Amino acid sequence: MTEVVEKLDVEGMVYKTLLESTKAIPWRIQWDSLSFSYIGPQIEELLGWAPDSWMSVQDWADRIHPEDREWAVNFCVAQSKAGVDHEADYRALCKDGSYVWIRDVVHVVRKDDGSVDALVGFMFDISERKRTEQRLIELQRELETLSFKDGLTGIANRRRFDAVFGEEWDNARRSGRPLSMLMLDIDYFKQYNDHYGHVQGDYCLKVVAKALEQAVRGPRDFLARFGGEEFVLILPDTDAGIAQQVAERCHELIRTEWIPHERSMTGMALTLSVGAGTVVPMATDERQAFLELVDRRLYSAKVRGRNTTVSGEH
Ligand code: GH3
Ligand code: MG
Ligand code: MG
Repeated sequence: MTEVVEKLDVEGMVYKTLLESTKAIPWRIQWDSLSFSYIGPQIEELLGWAPDSWMSVQDWADRIHPEDREWAVNFCVAQSKAGVDHEADYRALCKDGSYVWIRDVVHVVRKDDGSVDALVGFMFDISERKRTEQRLIELQRELETLSFKDGLTGIANRRRFDAVFGEEWDNARRSGRPLSMLMLDIDYFKQYNDHYGHVQGDYCLKVVAKALEQAVRGPRDFLARFGGEEFVLILPDTDAGIAQQVAERCHELIRTEWIPHERSMTGMALTLSVGAGTVVPMATDERQAFLELVDRRLYSAKVRGRNTTVSGEH
């Protein structure tokens, strides 16, 4: 008999040693009295609260972050009542006032008649995982921003343009309001690069982008680098007359910058050619066709001598 008891004692000690030497914090709650019958001593190292300060379930609830408390308590109580094993992530209050992210994994122990006898579980410190998760979310946001931004000029890139053009096309079709678009292409930019060098060419593109940004007026007006030395302006809720004025303003903004271009055939400073279009899209209209129309007008502006805007068929 004593041998059996000793064996049980030894086994019990082994379990206790094992439980109390793991990083996870074991605990047990007696269901009828809603009180802790056990909590691992590791809890003090993690949160600063001594094991004997964990008396009732209320102590546990009081030590949950106010923003997490209601759902965590309601969820755990409901699951326990239903006899379902569960886990909950919440911020636990430390004695020094700080918080630690905890994952509480709970097993419901039932009596022979099926009613709840006790809850046993482990608390895991998941702060590090939460920090990594948060960092990942931030990185994802940064990546999203970067993937929509032109690396050289910092304005929106072609990918972003495609998305915005799609949205504004649908908006215009629904609202029946005119949608205008300007395609702007630097004149004789190949000669600019040849004469001033590619590095200066890159700098020039930045200056042009910055200047064109000043043509953006309405909150939905949208400027993007379409590719190479070509820019595009989407002007929602804008008729052809206003679009023409915005195009004039773009020429003027570039003129004001007065970027020297000795090899240009249009003068001594850098100029742009612009294709302009306005549409109230019908259900059957294709936005790609509108883009091509504006691009053809840009080509017409080149043919007509550059440093000009073409906004209709010629
Ligand atoms: P046009 O007046 O008919 O528009 O003539 P262009 O010389 O401007 O047009 P073309 O399409 O022949 O040449 C565009 C040039 O733009 C060629 C290319 O080297 C230059 N380019 C495109 N992207 C960049 C860039 O990111 N940086 C620099 N420096 N040059 C670029
Ligand atoms: Mg060009
Ligand atoms: Mg071009």
